[in-house]
This record gives sequence, C-alpha cells and structure tokens, in this order.
Amino acid sequence: MTVFEMIINGDIPSTKIYEDDLCIAILDIAPRAKGHTLVISKEVYPTIADAPSETVAHMMDIVKKVDGKMRSVLKADGTNVIINNSPASGQEVPHLHIHVIPRFKDDGISFFPPSTKYEEEEMSEYGRKLAL
Ligand code: AMP
Repeated sequence: MTVFEMIINGDIPSTKIYEDDLCIAILDIAPRAKGHTLVISKEVYPTIADAPSETVAHMMDIVKKVDGKMRSVLKADGTNVIINNSPASGQEVPHLHIHVIPRFKDDGISFFPPSTKYEEEEMSEYGRKLAL
C-alpha cells in the first residue's frame, strides 16, 4: 500500500486542503517551498501513463485552483507544476500525484537539469521519433 493510500484511507494524518471523488490535495510533508501541495489521485495509478485521461484532466483543473490560491493568498509570483513518472524520474511514491510548488521572484530554487545539446541532425531525428 502506498503512503498516499494510507492518507486517503485516513490511516495516517495529513494537512488536506481539498477532496472530491477523484482526488485529494494535501501539503507535502517535506516542502520544497512552504505551501508545496500534492494533488493525488484517489485510485492508485503508478504513473500518468496508467491513469484515465479524464482523471488527469480533472486533477489539472484542481492544480489550476491551487496555483490560483498560491498566487492570491501566498502572493506567489509563479508555480512549478511537476509530475515524476517512474523511479528513473525521481518518483519515490508509485501513486500518481502532481506537485504544485509556489515560486517567488529571486527565490533561488532550480528544478530543471542543466541543458544538453543535440548533435547535427539529431534534433530533427528526435522530432520525427516523437511526432504524435
Ligand atoms: P515523488 O518523488 O514525486 O514520488 O514525491 C513524493 C512526495 O511525497 C515527496 O515530495 C515527499 O515529501 C512526499 N511525501 C511522502 N510522504 C508524505 C506524507 N506522509 N505526507 C505528505 N507528503 C509526503
């Protein structure tokens, strides 16, 4: 059972800011910034690839509301919205959740890895491979 299932079942405490039939939103216990929120699916889907698109879309609507609240109440200048999918990405809890992290001008936080470079022709090759 994932730690988030235990939270959803009420077996361990959390600071819950929202709940409906499909998801809950709680404060992250180890915040990357104060107010760091997790929007978590109620059903266990290990990654975004496993979840119904309707659930993901609904969770993103809740993310938008969290973003709005962070801007209006915390006076955040922005947010990072992040999903880690599978351990290779750094995912620790295999239960779909969307991080919403409030950001402030000059807060010095950096989440993106440093940029890399394509070899000649490689970018168009990747473009072809990834074309949907
Ligand atoms: P990820 O690496 O994307 O799987 O993120 C998992 C997140 O869950 C981390 O940011 C943890 O701090 C957070 N977390 C783990 N246990 C709890 C808990 N009991 N309550 C709130 N957040 C938690």
